[in-house]
Amino acid sequence: MSAPDVRGAVLVLNAGSSSLKYQLLEPHSAAVLASGIVERIGDDDAGATHTAGDETAEFHGALADQHAALETALSLFRETGIDLGGAGLAAVGHRLVHGGKDFYRPTLVDDGVVDEIERISDLAPLHNPVNLAGIVAMRKLLPDVPSVAVFDTAFFHDLPAAASTYAIDREVAQQYSIRRYGFHGTSHQYVSERVTEYLGRDATSVNQIVLHLGNGASASAIRGGKPIDTSMGMTPMEGLVMGTRSGDIDPGVLTYLQRVGGFDAAEVDTLLNRNSGLRGLCGENDFRTIDRLISDGDDNARLAYDVYIHRLRSYIGAYLIGLGEVDAITFTAGVGENSPTVRADALDGLSRFGIHIDAERNTLRSKEARTISTDDSQVTVLVVPTNEELAIARQAFEVVEGQ
Ligand code: ADP
Repeated sequence: MSAPDVRGAVLVLNAGSSSLKYQLLEPHSAAVLASGIVERIGDDDAGATHTAGDETAEFHGALADQHAALETALSLFRETGIDLGGAGLAAVGHRLVHGGKDFYRPTLVDDGVVDEIERISDLAPLHNPVNLAGIVAMRKLLPDVPSVAVFDTAFFHDLPAAASTYAIDREVAQQYSIRRYGFHGTSHQYVSERVTEYLGRDATSVNQIVLHLGNGASASAIRGGKPIDTSMGMTPMEGLVMGTRSGDIDPGVLTYLQRVGGFDAAEVDTLLNRNSGLRGLCGENDFRTIDRLISDGDDNARLAYDVYIHRLRSYIGAYLIGLGEVDAITFTAGVGENSPTVRADALDGLSRFGIHIDAERNTLRSKEARTISTDDSQVTVLVVPTNEELAIARQAFEVVEGQ
């Protein structure tokens, strides 16, 4: 097969602590021209797999850092006939986890923006520095292609003050930029816009709840296209029970662990980020395994599931009240798109609130946006696959086109 025409396409990068995921997309048609993942960055046995149409390429070996990972990705592109350096690429779109107070729009990256992102990296020490390393490497490797940073917090920048403010000493909050920022914003925005499109309604007339249930999980309440609340806070740890994160927890537990258990900040961080949530409760964080364990009669898996659903229902309840009237509740991301059991249990027994799931529709498998409520359900319940890469590609394209 001949190499695809990549003029006007956008390369979307999601640089993680030990992995780099990328997609080359055509922002208008949503066509994915190539994609790949580099894993175990920093190890001697790093690996990369890359696909472009029918062509595939692989790498195995040592990769020191994001720069080396990106260099490898670009050479895999060349192996499949795509030279990104001279191809007329429109932009590179970078996923940035934390935008702090000041970044709330997709932003064309220049040296000043790099410095500013560096300055706020303490807000998301696990994510922002490595996201930034991706930007710095890309600007060196493809100096003629504009880089655009798309922030996971952006959609929630204008949350009402009542929802974004923690009830702590105002001066402390101000000094340390402590507020509820919200995350997964690219997904909540993309999915909520797809919902209004799907319903054939004007965004300003739709009240909706979006449940992004992946390995990380968050909920949002959106009134007329604008979020009025979301479950993640200053960091992505607040809110729902997640694969490996606790979600909401009494902050007294943390000071107790420091005082009585001798935990330091790094140990608390590891406990709450990596060894909590579903994994903390039952040793597993993948719902497919948890489902199997529950069928085998595993009590810990059952409890993990019950805690997960209990928390999810609390947020749904809060957002039903927060919005007053709700037109749509939408499930998205790995668990939300694939687990009919979670969807059914999350909304079980809510007919009094106008919510009726259709059992048969709920169990149908599909990659498309679909309704899973009954025809007479007052609230439309939907499954809408998220596509953060496409959303980033489109936002990055708009920025460079507007230059
Ligand atoms: P991430 O937050 O890493 O982007 P995803 O949105 O890809 O996560 O979701 C990953 C999670 O989705 C997995 O950990 C697993 O729990 C869940 N998942 C994926 N496929 C299925 C499935 N067929 N049934 C139930 N859960 C699934």
